[in-house]
Amino acid sequence: MPENYTPLEALKTYFGHEKFRPMQAEIIDQVLERKDALVVMPTGGGKSVCYQIPALVSEGLTVVVSPLISLMQDQVEGLRQNGVPAAFLNSSLNESQQRKVSQQITSGKLKLLYVSPERLLNPAMMAFLKRIPIKFFAVDEAHCISMWGHDFRPVYKDLKSLKSEFNNIPVIALTATADKVTRKDIVKQLGLDSPEVFIDSFDRPNLHLKVLPAQQRFKVIKKFIDLRPNQPGIVYCLSRKSTEKVAERLANSGIKAAPYHAGMSSEARARTQQAFSNDDISVVCATIAFGMGIDKSNIRWIIHYNLPKNMEGYYQEIGRAGRDGMAAEALLFYSYSDVAILRNFIEENELQEIRLAKLERMQQYAEAQTCRRKVLLSYFNEIYPENCGNCDVCNNPPSYIDGTVVAQKALSAVARLKESTGAGMVVDVLRGSSKSEIFQNGYNKLKTYGVGKDIDYFGWHHYLMQLVQQGFLEIAYDDHQKMKLTPLSKKVLYEKMPVKLTRPEKFAAGEAPVKKKTKKERLRDDLFERLRILRKQLADKQGIPAYQVFSDQTLQQMSEYRPDTVTELMAIDGVGQAKLDRYGETFLKSIENFKIQERDRGSTHLVTWQMLQQGKSPQEIAKERKLNSVTIYSHIAALYEKGKPISIEKYISKEDLDKTIKAIKTVGEMNGMKPIFEHLGGKIPFEKIRLALAMYHKKQ
Ligand code: ADP
Ligand code: ZN
Repeated sequence: MPENYTPLEALKTYFGHEKFRPMQAEIIDQVLERKDALVVMPTGGGKSVCYQIPALVSEGLTVVVSPLISLMQDQVEGLRQNGVPAAFLNSSLNESQQRKVSQQITSGKLKLLYVSPERLLNPAMMAFLKRIPIKFFAVDEAHCISMWGHDFRPVYKDLKSLKSEFNNIPVIALTATADKVTRKDIVKQLGLDSPEVFIDSFDRPNLHLKVLPAQQRFKVIKKFIDLRPNQPGIVYCLSRKSTEKVAERLANSGIKAAPYHAGMSSEARARTQQAFSNDDISVVCATIAFGMGIDKSNIRWIIHYNLPKNMEGYYQEIGRAGRDGMAAEALLFYSYSDVAILRNFIEENELQEIRLAKLERMQQYAEAQTCRRKVLLSYFNEIYPENCGNCDVCNNPPSYIDGTVVAQKALSAVARLKESTGAGMVVDVLRGSSKSEIFQNGYNKLKTYGVGKDIDYFGWHHYLMQLVQQGFLEIAYDDHQKMKLTPLSKKVLYEKMPVKLTRPEKFAAGEAPVKKKTKKERLRDDLFERLRILRKQLADKQGIPAYQVFSDQTLQQMSEYRPDTVTELMAIDGVGQAKLDRYGETFLKSIENFKIQERDRGSTHLVTWQMLQQGKSPQEIAKERKLNSVTIYSHIAALYEKGKPISIEKYISKEDLDKTIKAIKTVGEMNGMKPIFEHLGGKIPFEKIRLALAMYHKKQ
């Protein structure tokens, strides 16, 4: 019986984790001592374990209140996968299904029951539960009870009656909402009895933070996704229309993407969400309507196509990435036109000032020249002592240059444009663009036309933003974001006041050059890919999301450590008893096959090597071994890369070699040999490209 486990044993047996995270153990003790508690932990912090473990190590039923059907289903499925007797009751079940759950409850078989607040508060349900030995109540997403929170649900208010109707039964409230007012309100509204309040750090160290100016967003996004094949992510957009537009453009360029917004039918929304959960599509372009119901643990990145309206929302949204604890990325595009749009949205009422202030804090984050994590956490009243090392500013600390001439050029362009245009036109004039608008307005005759050709588009936008931040320019948000001069600009223009600016980021398109993988990393990633496909097949068979089978983290560890035995597999984080029984053998088999193939691949090269040493030509070897000659050349290339004394020049002319290496340098090798082949007009066959690549790698 589960009652016999200690909390730690239950953690390993059911969830496959070795140890509790610092706060989890404390919270569990509190619950087991039958005390009320409020738990504030960021998304992905591991809140569920805090009530699931106490539920598993003690007698009786634990009732979990959860606001969304999809969340409940996901949680219950996850628990069942781990061999935990759990069920949910909500409006999605028919009568006979409901009866079955009730029977499980009365028979005492069920450990965890998830219910919607509506269902729980239904008088018949209350009466029924009063006859059941209930261990405690867990109120998930507890901020829904507070009008101060960002997701108020009136029905949550009535949960107040839990404490009075079920006296002596502890209540534990859980939320990821940070602000103090909401926390206090939760305690008050639920009538918690001198609860212990646990507040975990809001830091999500695995999230990489980055901000880019909103230039050529689509191009940047496309490249970003191309460099991260098969990694699920969300693009958050401000408008419904742009979710559709971006999704369509991505789909047209071969990326499996779909839109999601509140204007779609509920079926269409459910379809998108399901496809995303099941890894059938990898990108969702969504408004903020796409959110709370997603429990997907392997979201690897979040892009904000537009500036969010406040930090709370932003933090919630990026928090959806990397819940499995593995590296994940948050990229935000920042532009003044978004600021203007958001300012327009803010209505004139008593909340106007607060909302404007919140938007300004969001801007400060986007414009930060110091560690972004510090800025982010300070908003939530947390002090982060060191630089984080995992944000764009830390990775690429601003280096200041003498920007006086740059500033003079920019300010003079604004002056000559009579402060009547936005930043885009200022840059176009500086760069000497030949857009028709320029000629229509005679801007080509301005003295500043084309004086800034030496700086690219990104660079100029970066400098203009800096000038605004430092007060040398202003944006007229109430007048089409026109760029306006300030008293300080005059000092630069007429009094030669020096200006310091930071250098624009070198890799404006959002990417540092990709590091070449070591062989070990390549093999690990190949195995991960194979296990990912296996996971998907197993999940599809059961109609569940892939991450329910094993998390990315678990697959990653399997690819890294390549367990051979059940004991070794059991040592991997996330492999508990139920999953070991259910999937263990299949995964062990797949890992074993991978190893065998890798060994064979090694030996097939060696056979070619022996035959080469016997003086045979690649054609002869291909014929004798009944293999394609391209394969033999790829063996030769690999042998050469490994340091075997082979003279590549024997198989490719100097001229072809030079041409091909030049092509490799131009198109890169990220996307395999095909783009190189095409760049060369199809004139150099693949086998020669492969040889040239070997030469190229060796030289590097
Ligand atoms: P939250 O509900 O706070 O967003 P979850 O409870 O869903 O977070 O947990 C997030 C992830 O962390 C899950 O993948 C879970 O398996 C993992 N996790 C939770 N506790 C531990 C632990 N003690 N050790 C390792 N992983 C854990
Ligand atoms: Zn940082």
